[in-house]
Amino acid sequence: MIYQGTAIQVSKRPSGIARLVFDLPGSVVNVFNNLMLQELSDAIAAVAASDARGLICVSAKSSFLVGADIKEFTEKFKLSEQVLLDWAARTNEIFNAVEDLAIPTVTAINGMALGGGLEMCLSTDFRVASDTAVLGFPEVNLGICPGFGGTVRAPRLMSALSAIEWVRTGKQVGAYQALSEGAVDAVVAPDMLDDAAEDMIEQVLRGELDLQDRRAQKTGPLPMTADEIKQVFTEGLARTDKAAGSHYPAAVTAVDAMWQAADQSRAGALLLENKAFVTLARGEVAGNLVQLFLSEQFLKSRAKKLSAGAHPVKRAAVMGAGIMGGGIAYQSALRGTPILMKDIAQQGLDLGLSEANKLLAKQLERGRMDQAKVDKVLGSITPTLSYDGFEQVDIIVEAVVENPRVKQIVLAEVEQCVPQSTVLTSNTSTISISLLASALKRPENFCGMHFFNPVPLMPLVEVIKGEKTSAQAIATTVAYAQSLGKSPIVVNDCPGFLVNRILFPYFGAFCQLLRDGADFRVIDQVMERFGWPMGPAYLLDVVGIDTASHCMKVMADGFPDRMQYDFRTAIDHLYEAGSFGQKNGKGFYQYQSSAGGRPAKVFDEAILAFLKPLQVTQDAAVEINEDAIRERMMIALCLEAVRCLEDGIVSSAAEVDMGLLLGLGYPRFRGGALRFIDNMGVAEFCAMADKYADLGALYHPTAGLRAMAASGKSFY
Ligand code: NAD
Repeated sequence: MIYQGTAIQVSKRPSGIARLVFDLPGSVVNVFNNLMLQELSDAIAAVAASDARGLICVSAKSSFLVGADIKEFTEKFKLSEQVLLDWAARTNEIFNAVEDLAIPTVTAINGMALGGGLEMCLSTDFRVASDTAVLGFPEVNLGICPGFGGTVRAPRLMSALSAIEWVRTGKQVGAYQALSEGAVDAVVAPDMLDDAAEDMIEQVLRGELDLQDRRAQKTGPLPMTADEIKQVFTEGLARTDKAAGSHYPAAVTAVDAMWQAADQSRAGALLLENKAFVTLARGEVAGNLVQLFLSEQFLKSRAKKLSAGAHPVKRAAVMGAGIMGGGIAYQSALRGTPILMKDIAQQGLDLGLSEANKLLAKQLERGRMDQAKVDKVLGSITPTLSYDGFEQVDIIVEAVVENPRVKQIVLAEVEQCVPQSTVLTSNTSTISISLLASALKRPENFCGMHFFNPVPLMPLVEVIKGEKTSAQAIATTVAYAQSLGKSPIVVNDCPGFLVNRILFPYFGAFCQLLRDGADFRVIDQVMERFGWPMGPAYLLDVVGIDTASHCMKVMADGFPDRMQYDFRTAIDHLYEAGSFGQKNGKGFYQYQSSAGGRPAKVFDEAILAFLKPLQVTQDAAVEINEDAIRERMMIALCLEAVRCLEDGIVSSAAEVDMGLLLGLGYPRFRGGALRFIDNMGVAEFCAMADKYADLGALYHPTAGLRAMAASGKSFY
């Protein structure tokens, strides 16, 4: 044994070649945490002091090494610039030590080699990959760039343009493509990997592979002229979306560092990488994206716990074959759970089926599905006007019109046609789950299952617990949502549940801005610049002005202190004029059918005159500049997010923020509403809100938030 650590062992084979095994205890994957890095350093020193003829690096896990330990980032990224720079430099010395060993080195890549894992591979002289291996630099997805020498070694081993693309996009690449781009030197069947790696060492020792050449290539400047360098990096940068780059700076910063480092040898190039890495790591965006990664993991583990003991769902049924029912049927059939789709009208069934057909035609057209699969999916949807077959159904999703009386009748009726164990759910957007449950004989078997429109695209499903809902019903619904490929969040019952409850104060703030004389187009621009995929006026058109008007009434009844408005809102004004938004072609904007299928949004001057009577604030002191718009919109939204957490609608900040991201498209790089408050500082946020106290309770920080401000606490 050359080295025996907790996570790394190095032994010597009969051939005299050392074999370094990564095997982090208590983890299904290998990651570079502090322990692993320290042991790598010690192990390489032991190899250097040994008489080994060569070194092969392998993994004992089913993947090779998936990168740095992201759980350690949150603390690490808070370090001061100098401390972080020193850490990056020290870490790089470990990988340099691998690269500078006197003996030939090869990595055997048996599976995923991502981020720091790939950087480990690049530090050895050669790489042989199993044909199942996957390589890539996913760092940009966390708002950072490779920090263990990846931006230095990749362009020197591959073509510069390939390396730029890998670093810039974070894409994952299969073994053969990695071979063709020069990231690995050979690809073999998984069972040949060890022999192939050893054989490569022997080839070097026999002089058939030139070690010195390879090392010179890896540690010298890029072998390109100044003009070639300029051309390739200009092209690399041109491919980076400039608009996205202002919100996600990692790609541009990384490519810039690679460019500056192009004429440098290893030491200089690594310094530039360190600097770029540290700048990004200490930035707000990386902090937000790292937190989101951790929140995603948290959500998954929570869903796993909550779905324990779920009844298997072999067959499902959806009641109501409208926009939502059709989408739910499509998604269930697509993911392998056959579904009955019931409506009261043939016309409804036709609409639901045409919805599913439209979605399948798109998949076929884009080559994502063949005709056989399309037929299979369609064959798994059984349209029906009767309750035949309901005796075999494990879960029901009710998606009929948004009317409590109708829903209660439908749910009570279907309850009689299904076995005792069948779970009933409602896709209501606003109606209290406990109220709907009062019509049922088995309220414990009932909960909300709130999908977002369009069902196939929107990842969130809110699973709503009524007063009497059992853990078993929640478990089955959570498991079914996961089987549909969705991210379920379990929430407690309240008007608007989690996402709409937070969204409607934002719409309220929007209506108040219009009352005070703001132009809705300007508000849209400001919020789109903030990072929202669409501004509030456009979003209202997409949601449907009729739907929004209905929801607003429910919210006003539920939270009259802050969501009952004493002025006429633009939403009601449009609704009463029959302008329902995108669905009937007129709302804040006008919509015309376009070749691409997505309605084209156009502005018609007439809307300004139509909205003019709503502007009642004559007070010139109300200044509505860009800052005021952004602040007013975000305060209303963030404070409702705080109230949801305080009221126990969900139990963690991560669920609040993930709900907004997955259900509303809240900009990822901003991390969420509670994260927004944390980033600003809770006390600073309260001070900002206090500027708008006169606008009403929507803008009043809660006592809990003020207490957090006083004690210096944060949500994360
Ligand atoms: P929709 O009007 O498109 O479809 C409703 C369907 O229910 C119609 O086909 C109708 O014939 C059918 N129906 C009515 N009574 C029925 C009964 N007794 N039995 C069986 N079918 C019956 O409505 P939608 O937009 O699909 O909305 C359905 C539900 O989903 C509503 O509760 C709505 O609030 C909720 N929801 C809608 C959205 C959205 O954006 N559209 C988003 C989330 C949730």
